[in-house]
Amino acid sequence: MAVNTEAYQSIKKELDSKNAVLVAVSKTKPIGDIQTLYDLGHRDFGENYVQELVEKQKQLPNDIRWHFIGHLQRNKVKEIAAFVHLIHGTDSLRLLVEINKQAARCNRTIPVLLQVHIAREETKFGLDENELKEILKNFSGLNNVAVKGLMGMASLTDNREIIRTEFRYLKSLYDKLLTAHHLPLTTLSMGMSNDYHIAVEEGSNLVRIGSLLFGARS
Ligand SMILES: *Cc1c(COP(=O)(O)O)cnc(C)c1O
Repeated sequence: MAVNTEAYQSIKKELDSKNAVLVAVSKTKPIGDIQTLYDLGHRDFGENYVQELVEKQKQLPNDIRWHFIGHLQRNKVKEIAAFVHLIHGTDSLRLLVEINKQAARCNRTIPVLLQVHIAREETKFGLDENELKEILKNFSGLNNVAVKGLMGMASLTDNREIIRTEFRYLKSLYDKLLTAHHLPLTTLSMGMSNDYHIAVEEGSNLVRIGSLLFGARS
């Protein structure tokens, strides 16, 4: 299936008007699909798998901002450390320590988001509020990692009120870190194809959209 450029234009315009960044989630989709949106001026793309991201990065223009949105294993950090723009799924201090180490090796600072578990499902990754605070307390020595904000995924449900409540909770945590802890945060990553309207209404300023742009994944 071809890229839905009409959907892209209208979603992009809508999000621009709300000052939210659109990350086009291109996992499992071919290079040509990414190039199509690139040629329309798009630069932010999201990938879930390290090997796939590394292959695509080699073949596509250098000014693409690559967002790693999957679950990152520590032994894979070194493969993306030189070029990754933002790592969304950070959920342990051990992972942060490794990101810091690989970032230092590349002479750079890597921006990250801490992933918070907001959904009802047990299987999703992410921190609870106490773990989040614990990490922020212990994290000050890591000079090559910059915590830029939070990321979360709502429950897989048709119940819009549950989704809204979960996003609202994440926004409240984000606001608490900004005001009570004075962290210099910029980014609240929440919302996907099915729930991004609710996410933006609840304060998201970065949404990760795949299937609405690139079609369903097999
Ligand atoms: C796949 C994925 C998306 C995009 O999902 P769609 O429903 O296709 O928009 C967003 N965020 C994460 C973390 C993903 O893994």
